[in-house]
Amino acid sequence: MEKLYAYFHVNQLDFHPKYEWALGNRIKHPETTKRAENIFKKLKAEKWIELKEPDNIPLKAIRDSHNYQLITLYNTAMALPEGETFYPSVFPQRKDSKPDPTNIYHAGFYCFDSGTPLNNKTWQAAAWSAASSFHAAKEVLKKGSVTYALSRPPGHHAARDTYGGYCYFNNAAIAAKVLRPKGRVALVDVDFHHGNGTQGLFYRDDQVFVTSIHGDPREYFPYFCGFPSEQGSGDGLGYNLNVILPTGTKWRNYKKTLKETVIPAIKRFEPDYLVLSAGFDTYHKDPIGRFALETKDYELMAKEFSALGLPTVICQEGGYYTPDLGANVVSFLKGFKGRIK
Ligand SMILES: [Zn+2]
Repeated sequence: MEKLYAYFHVNQLDFHPKYEWALGNRIKHPETTKRAENIFKKLKAEKWIELKEPDNIPLKAIRDSHNYQLITLYNTAMALPEGETFYPSVFPQRKDSKPDPTNIYHAGFYCFDSGTPLNNKTWQAAAWSAASSFHAAKEVLKKGSVTYALSRPPGHHAARDTYGGYCYFNNAAIAAKVLRPKGRVALVDVDFHHGNGTQGLFYRDDQVFVTSIHGDPREYFPYFCGFPSEQGSGDGLGYNLNVILPTGTKWRNYKKTLKETVIPAIKRFEPDYLVLSAGFDTYHKDPIGRFALETKDYELMAKEFSALGLPTVICQEGGYYTPDLGANVVSFLKGFKGRIK
């Protein structure tokens, strides 16, 4: 039997965000290394999954999605003393600013929240996370198969020039840009939160159709975007679809939305490739997300995407109920079992 390749590099575990600021309170950071460790353990127990260590990612592949200043800032953070973490507390109005990414105190210019810290290991973990999705996409390009990137830290909130939402490099966008020269890409975000970074990166692009199913941004992060009225602009007009589902949504209604809205929209686009931003904070026990999906539902969800018959890269996004995270990921990957080459 052929195996499903899952990409992960141990250096992705070097970054340990300890806490975040949430509505003025200092709370334990949910994006811990235990998440990736739990997923890794569960993947390892599955004989039909083969864990692969990615090679380095070329800087150009990161530059295709992120500007020079953002990368420079992460390099600046590498000079922070061991154990010291930087949280910006000044977020300037862009029009009158003179930002300098070699000055760590200017991090607030490139950041949009106070939950996404920088330290001397951020660059390393984020670059290896991007490498996992980059090489997962390269494999799909070569073989037309289905691959999974255990991309941690996650990526879908990171935009060309800003970071936030625990995300530094947009792993799914980096994967999509590997595939884009060879065909049309549908990028589907099933994380509980709107993929604002991904939306921004392809907003004017008619070759990458971005759709995100998420909780209402009026109540949930990232608050400022993710509304159905955002449909793309310029050449990209009509190639961005935001779908909001109510708090507490269970599989029955989630499936209805997939079958009646999301899957038909993907089919109309006639893509050659599929990239999935697979977040599991839609889980009923998740401490951050507020949908009510169960472990078995993820396999059913994946089957809907698998039935499209497209070469597919699955990138890990959120999911913060650590004890069941690996089981949820494995359940999702099972939905693609018939498609492994
Ligand atoms: Zn999320």
